[in-house]
Amino acid sequence: SRSRTYEAAAAQEIQRRSVDSVVRQHYNARPDMGVSARQSSPIIKLKSFNNFIKSVIIKRFARRDDVVLDMGCGKGGDLLKWDIAGIRGYVGIDIADVSVRQAEDRFRKMRRKRFWAEFMAGDAFSMPLTAHIPRDMYQAVFPVDVVTMQFCMHYAFETEAKARQMLENVSRSLRRGGKFIGTIPSSDAIVEHIQKLPPGEKEWGNSVYRVRFFNDPPRDGMFRPPFGHRYSFFLEDAVEDVPEYVVPFEVFRAMAEDYKLELVYRKGFHEVFEDETSEHPELFDIAKRMDVVKSDGTFGIEGDQREAAGFYLAFAFEKLAG
Ligand code: SAM
Repeated sequence: SRSRTYEAAAAQEIQRRSVDSVVRQHYNARPDMGVSARQSSPIIKLKSFNNFIKSVIIKRFARRDDVVLDMGCGKGGDLLKWDIAGIRGYVGIDIADVSVRQAEDRFRKMRRKRFWAEFMAGDAFSMPLTAHIPRDMYQAVFPVDVVTMQFCMHYAFETEAKARQMLENVSRSLRRGGKFIGTIPSSDAIVEHIQKLPPGEKEWGNSVYRVRFFNDPPRDGMFRPPFGHRYSFFLEDAVEDVPEYVVPFEVFRAMAEDYKLELVYRKGFHEVFEDETSEHPELFDIAKRMDVVKSDGTFGIEGDQREAAGFYLAFAFEKLAG
């Protein structure tokens, strides 16, 4: 029976690696489109809106001269946002090595940048970060002021072990009082959709996005056990059929407490937009520059792209003492 346990463990490991390699291959294969190609995308408004929300969250939680760890940095799409925030240093890590090289390239080509940056390819969720970060760099740079995980933490909710290793990596990387910020699909939004599904139906969406559960999703909205609730997310022109996992938010919040991370902010994207722009009207200048404008000329997002944006939430935690 012992060897059967090992066999089961080995089978699980193969399964886990294959999911990671699907994710890696998918992102590696995505071309790094220039600005002009992006402009003709059917989800151009959604991309602008998402970028605006990320800018707002970065602005709210980062301080001048901060050092930032970007876990799941992708092609470095947030480098300019961090430059505008006035940070001092940036460490980017992603499992997709081709994306990491593109991020490095993007940084090299940035003009008038005011911060240093280091990039690494590696799995930031299933292994300790020290497996990828050279020891001397780790000692010189860590703990950092901010850990950011944009549109990627949901890949870690495949298993409890992976989610815990990810949180351990976040917590160990942060100084006391440091911030952990991110954007993920909202489990509330997911549950709302599941409860509206006709019996036997496992998917929903519109002209720009589609969600398809692997197994029958729980109708009562309770994800038990809270890991491995796999679905495919299709986004017109972006993510095609990459396995993702539900992040039941209350489970995430409770688990984060085990790692001395206390929730300080949690809002759906539309709420972030409404609240932050009414508190800080100067954000409309940025919204205008980023083309977060509806067809009638007012600020915001509309139609199917609006519903797709409502799939996400933004969060922030603070690292407590001890
Ligand atoms: N944060 C970037 C952004 O906002 O533009 C990229 C987001 S992209 C939707 C998700 C990223 O998560 C991909 O680049 C993917 O390679 C990365 N990722 C997935 N699993 C990972 C892991 N185990 N370790 C590090 N990165 C991972």
